[in-house]
Amino acid sequence: MSSTSHDPRSLVTVDADGFPCVESPVLQTEAGTRYLTAPGIALLSRPSFRPEGLAGFLAGFQDELGFDSYLADPVPLSPGAGICKAAGQLCYLSFGPRRSMNADGDRYFDNIRESGHGSVLEHANYSMLIYGVSRSLTHELVRHRAGFAFSQVSQRYVSPDLVRFVERPEFRAMPELHALFEERIDRLAQEHLKLCSVLSEQQTAGAQLLHGDSRTDARKKLQQAARAALSNETEAPIIVTGNARAWRHFLAMRGSEHAELEIRALAALIWACLVSQDALLFGDFRLGAAQDGAWILTTPTPRV
Ligand SMILES: Cc1cc2nc3c(=O)[nH]c(=O)nc-3n(C[C@H](O)[C@H](O)[C@H](O)COP(=O)(O)OP(=O)(O)OC[C@H]3O[C@@H](n4cnc5c(N)ncnc54)[C@H](O)[C@@H]3O)c2cc1C
Repeated sequence: MSSTSHDPRSLVTVDADGFPCVESPVLQTEAGTRYLTAPGIALLSRPSFRPEGLAGFLAGFQDELGFDSYLADPVPLSPGAGICKAAGQLCYLSFGPRRSMNADGDRYFDNIRESGHGSVLEHANYSMLIYGVSRSLTHELVRHRAGFAFSQVSQRYVSPDLVRFVERPEFRAMPELHALFEERIDRLAQEHLKLCSVLSEQQTAGAQLLHGDSRTDARKKLQQAARAALSNETEAPIIVTGNARAWRHFLAMRGSEHAELEIRALAALIWACLVSQDALLFGDFRLGAAQDGAWILTTPTPRV
């Protein structure tokens, strides 16, 4: 999964509408406990840009400025780069014939990054479903505050039957550790169910700490206690929306060779999805290999 023997871009499939995804198969122990061994990703939402919307605004300036030529640029941009470039050009009312043309998009965005004018990259937002990742990974992911929104599965609301686990690459690679992993998640799944059942008996018997005002509330009171049995290996599906500046910061921090192995693999796969959408916004990242053989990402402009 995280080996550099292949390029993360080769794991991305793009559907008929151009939305990328990385699939992750679900495995089962003999006892039926479900687990995954790699992140799954699906891009759910991406920018949409309609430059024609600028027409009325541009028409209000003197004809000799030639602002109407902005809408006649022969080179189309992707929606993300298009909205960010329009936002950047609005700052200086650079809509006339001497502006940076779309054909010079590479140079335009290099200049944006090198001059630290990163706020214009905040106009392009991308939402990803991320699954097949552990609770320890999402604990690191949600530390990224600026420009991100997170919605993560609730262990208080979701029934124990739906809990799945994630196997680390180190365990997957070594038969002894893999066998221990399968034993452990079977045991944890059993303990989780057992705790729910004992807590439920106590609740029915009137235990005050487990009192719930409604059926949902009562179930939550059981599950918030029973989840204590779950480990960091529990899967934590999450939908993350981030703007291009925020995703770039995430890729630079978590694609670094100092980042933890599981989140580093996720960063490389997210980059592979994002660069399939917008090479101007994400194409400056270079893929490499760390000492451990897993992917790393570097860019000359990690902080914009
Ligand atoms: C290799 C590695 C090891 C780590 N080890 C640890 C660890 O041992 N313990 C630990 O607790 N965390 C650790 N972290 C997490 C790290 O400290 C950050 O919480 C995480 O990487 C998010 O980074 P950030 O704050 O720059 O990102 P974001 O929250 O996305 O912020 C982006 C940028 O916005 C600005 N910003 C955001 N919020 C504020 C604010 N409130 N005030 C001022 N500026 C702001 C900053 O410039 C910031 O860099 C580690 C991270 C990495 C990559």
